[in-house]
Amino acid sequence: MRVLLVEDEMTLADSVSRGLEAEGMTVDHVADGLDGLWRAREAVYDAIVLDIMLPGMNGYEVCRTLRREEVWTPILMLTAKDGEYDEADAFDLGADDYLRKPFSHVVLVARLRSLARRSRPTPTANLTVDDLVVDPAGMTCTRRGTRIDLTPREFSVLTALLRRAPDVVAKQDLLDAVWGIDFEGDPNIVEVYVGYLRRKIDRPFGTETVRTVRGVGYQIAGRS
Ligand code: CA
Repeated sequence: MRVLLVEDEMTLADSVSRGLEAEGMTVDHVADGLDGLWRAREAVYDAIVLDIMLPGMNGYEVCRTLRREEVWTPILMLTAKDGEYDEADAFDLGADDYLRKPFSHVVLVARLRSLARRSRPTPTANLTVDDLVVDPAGMTCTRRGTRIDLTPREFSVLTALLRRAPDVVAKQDLLDAVWGIDFEGDPNIVEVYVGYLRRKIDRPFGTETVRTVRGVGYQIAGRS
């Protein structure tokens, strides 16, 4: 699950990020409302955690703007008891849920999971190339009827590539989509995972589905 966190209180943002990541979620954190708006438009998230009082653009404006632009990512607003707005305003502006500060991580995680479940389009279409079939909702992958076991990370890399096929996906875009924009480790992790994928989806079948486009990135390509 990929979450965009828009929060300018760094201590809170750090602890929320750590809490969500401990639950296996990928968290992109920005501290400014305009950055939040930009990220929410540019990338696909399962949910957005949106503070209200923010530099750049306040959370209500971010929420209203996204809905006006028909971006329907579930939004959970963080409200403060003494805030200038109340929770009714949040719903009026298109938020899906709210949580009043201070809140517990357990509650936040539960609410986010429930929001993502509710908003999941059903049924999710399978992603296919040649005889490779990937079911994003069921998290299964098969080739010629053979089930291929992928780790969640491998699965995310493969679906990120398939969703953009046949376009070439830049290494940095894959890194952002799968590991999050705050990832500070070695970017070569992308190559490592592409290698894992090939070992599972291509090598045993004599296929070459994941191609390297030198100096650019990776591409899913069918036989024809
Ligand atoms: Ca704030």
